[in-house]
Amino acid sequence: MMAAGRAAELGAKVLLIEKNHKLGKKLLITGGGRCNITNAELDLRKMVAKYGPKGKALFGSFSRFGIQDVFDFFESRSLPLKVEAEQRAFPVSNKAEDVWKVMANYVKKGTVEILYNSAVTGLKFVENSVTGIMVGKKRITAKTYIVATGGKSRPETGSTGEGFEWMKALGHSVEESDSALVPVKIQQQWVKDLSGLSFTNAKLTVLQDGKKQESRSGKILCTHFGISGPLVLNMSKQIAELHKYAPVHLELDLYPDIDAANLDKKILESLTQFLNKKIRNSLGEILPPKIIGEVLTLAKIDGEKTVNALTKTERLRMTTFIKALPMSVSGFLGTEKAIVTSGGVSLKEIDFKTMQSKLFANLFLAGDILNFDRPSGGFSLQICWTTGYLAGENSAKQTGHLSS
Ligand SMILES: Cc1cc2nc3c(=O)[nH]c(=O)nc-3n(C[C@H](O)[C@H](O)[C@H](O)COP(=O)(O)OP(=O)(O)OC[C@H]3O[C@@H](n4cnc5c(N)ncnc54)[C@H](O)[C@@H]3O)c2cc1C
Repeated sequence: MMAAGRAAELGAKVLLIEKNHKLGKKLLITGGGRCNITNAELDLRKMVAKYGPKGKALFGSFSRFGIQDVFDFFESRSLPLKVEAEQRAFPVSNKAEDVWKVMANYVKKGTVEILYNSAVTGLKFVENSVTGIMVGKKRITAKTYIVATGGKSRPETGSTGEGFEWMKALGHSVEESDSALVPVKIQQQWVKDLSGLSFTNAKLTVLQDGKKQESRSGKILCTHFGISGPLVLNMSKQIAELHKYAPVHLELDLYPDIDAANLDKKILESLTQFLNKKIRNSLGEILPPKIIGEVLTLAKIDGEKTVNALTKTERLRMTTFIKALPMSVSGFLGTEKAIVTSGGVSLKEIDFKTMQSKLFANLFLAGDILNFDRPSGGFSLQICWTTGYLAGENSAKQTGHLSS
């Protein structure tokens, strides 16, 4: 949106091709719906250092369209920004939708033509020049091309990674994400208290903003910091990717192969043997002893009562928790300070003053398709604003439109 808007602003004729029925779906969910629009680190050196060793590439880009420019861009379009802890900048309205509106208007004002519901399927090229793009069987040609198809996180927003495949086909190097398989730190003390306990077949569900992201079953191990084991390690990459942007919650299902109704039946059958015993001492057939106290606390059941006194509502509440024990992710073992790499086109093959490909003179790249390491805090979108602006500007210049 930034690239298209900037190119059109300079007078270029722009066609924006979007596979969804609307633009910027991911932008709308940024910062938990508030959009952490940038990071207000105005010292160029310090800002660039935040991106790790690869950040050096951004010196040239940020000095052309940097953090202050992003503030000016949005504030001059009636979107005041505020700076919160760790220099995270947000719109004062706390609405990602308002950021989206500024971008949608920018595109509209420049009379960018938009082709919705149109998935680009590939790029055509001859030697070192892109000669067209394919939308299904239709070939569309232009003087210059900008690829801003994003990375691979949250594919339901449209970024499914095909841009990486086109870039490989053109001969660009695309580096894969190298975030390691790591154990997950959990906030809740009860999980740590279970250290050493393992569940051979449990289901872990990953949630963000109350929405289910993924569910998988396997072996989980509780440790003194949280959870580990094959299932957790395999899911850690996705959990880490989500955790970069907003809090991540997990639900642990101790009986993944039985539905809630059948689990309740099983509990009822088991408890009838112990009608006069304390509830706390009667769940040994259902739960490992160390976890009983926590389940009772979550379900707000007095464990000192006898089984006779357990109500159906209480029992059903307990069943719900046994199938969805809530946990909050607090970090990752060994990687708190490390930055999760997202993968993307090798930075060495791009001229960061212009965002032009070094292999194809009429090709420009912007945004998440580039292989930057970005910490959380508004750093991803800053790359998008900067590289989008420069890609738009320089592709327009190449077609004979001068910078204003
Ligand atoms: C949950 C979440 C929260 C985030 N929060 C923040 C935050 O607060 N601050 C921050 O700095 N960063 C945040 N980010 C990161 C930020 O959203 C991304 O860096 C940014 O959206 C990348 O922009 P992009 O334009 O490169 O790609 P995208 O936003 O992914 O957009 C790519 C576009 O290309 C389209 N497309 C893809 N393939 C095709 C095709 N074949 N044909 C046609 N169209 C195609 C897609 O439909 C999509 O509209 C967050 C990310 C996530 C997942």
